[in-house]
Amino acid sequence: MDWAILAPLVIVTGALVIIGLERVAPYDRGQRFLRRGLFMDLVLYGLIQSYLLALVIRALIGWIDARTGASSHGLVSGWPIALQVGFFVVTHDLYIYGFHRLQHRNRYLWRLHEAHHSATQIDWIAGSRSHALEILINQSIEFGAMILLGADPDVVLIKGAISAVWGMWIHANVGVRTGWLQHVINGPEMHRWHHARKYIGDGQNYGTKLAIWDWLFGTAYLPPEKPDGYGLADPFPSGFLAQQAYAFRRHDAPPARSTAA
Ligand SMILES: [Zn+2]
Ligand SMILES: [Zn+2]
Repeated sequence: MDWAILAPLVIVTGALVIIGLERVAPYDRGQRFLRRGLFMDLVLYGLIQSYLLALVIRALIGWIDARTGASSHGLVSGWPIALQVGFFVVTHDLYIYGFHRLQHRNRYLWRLHEAHHSATQIDWIAGSRSHALEILINQSIEFGAMILLGADPDVVLIKGAISAVWGMWIHANVGVRTGWLQHVINGPEMHRWHHARKYIGDGQNYGTKLAIWDWLFGTAYLPPEKPDGYGLADPFPSGFLAQQAYAFRRHDAPPARSTAA
């Protein structure tokens, strides 16, 4: 199996299936496919920013590896592929839960996360809207851990595809009710509430792939009703470059608390 070909195929197929489900069983019926910001989220964030950052992150990890020789120890290289994938999916998911929660508490880290919450219509590609520095931090840790611990190159491709498809799924405008599964695996039921304009308590649903962290650490929120709107209460620029620059403005207000969840 050539994962260099299979991984992009899985991502494209996943996108098409999720888009199809959005048409067949929408979570919010009034939401359109051709929405405001679709081009920016898909092309500027989803394709161009992702591609350019992948080059930077690959060079950065290569540079670290050349100086430390970390990957040559092959700490996980003897493990079966499935175990390597499972290990990195779970450990990275726990890291991202903690970092994400911190971003909603710390005013400087919130600056890097605000763009992700600026979309007012949440769909399959809305999640790609993330500040370049936020991606740089999170994906350097995600891929750095795999490469420096000596994971099989296929594991890097498989994990990348899982992250891409799961990222689309949790934001999807799909009205699913997964019952008890939502206590284990994360999906749109909980993550769409994370994007609700109304801030609930100290914030909710920080998990990405697994919902267990939220139930375990007391941040789960899953009411029977749906959010009455998404995005930030504060005005936020609509252009790609303006959104990147906005993270560096002076801002004295507390983080997410005053704006969105
Ligand atoms: Zn968030
Ligand atoms: Zn999100």
